[in-house]
Amino acid sequence: MHLLVVEDERALCETIVRSLRRLAYSVDHCYDGERALELLQTERYDLVILDLNLPGRDGMTVLRTLRQTDRETRVLILSARNEVSDKVAGLDAGASDYLSKPFHLAELEARIRSLTLRQFTQRDVLLTCGALTFDTKARAALVRGQALTLTRKETGIVEYLMLHQGRPVSQEELLEHVWDNSVDNFSNSIRVHISALWKKLRAALGYDPIRNRIGEGYLMGGPEP
Ligand code: CA
Repeated sequence: MHLLVVEDERALCETIVRSLRRLAYSVDHCYDGERALELLQTERYDLVILDLNLPGRDGMTVLRTLRQTDRETRVLILSARNEVSDKVAGLDAGASDYLSKPFHLAELEARIRSLTLRQFTQRDVLLTCGALTFDTKARAALVRGQALTLTRKETGIVEYLMLHQGRPVSQEELLEHVWDNSVDNFSNSIRVHISALWKKLRAALGYDPIRNRIGEGYLMGGPEP
């Protein structure tokens, strides 16, 4: 899951980013509306966490500008403005949800979970594929109840492929949704992460849940008949 955090209070922004990265999300961030609009033009995000009071272009301007061309990307508004009218204006402008400051990180994490899973058919906390499960709350992959030791990237890849079971996911799509701007975007690095992940999954499951369909991408599935 690729998230963007737009928040000008740097300490808060960094706390949010750190806590989301710890949960294996790939997270970009910026401190003003101008930069947010630039990022929104070049990157594809699964969710934008958007503060309203920003220097320069404010959050409502960012939201309205985004919505002129993009109705899909989910936006969670964060704001100290507690007025009902502000919440209504945000939702009317196309926000998916609204969280008032101050908030607990646990609540933010729960809202993010609900917003990022809402678009998929599996609404459970647990995603399953054969003997492999992914706990979207604990942010961990499990085999027969045992948590696997995966890196942040590997965790992100497993979650994304499990959410899109039944169709191949291209390397480009994985780069868009699992990688953030803090790393080099070479497709080589995807192969390295996938191959490390393959080994771990094969050792735990006894079969390969990720198949590489040449020219199409990676497909998550159960044991081959
Ligand atoms: Ca602010």
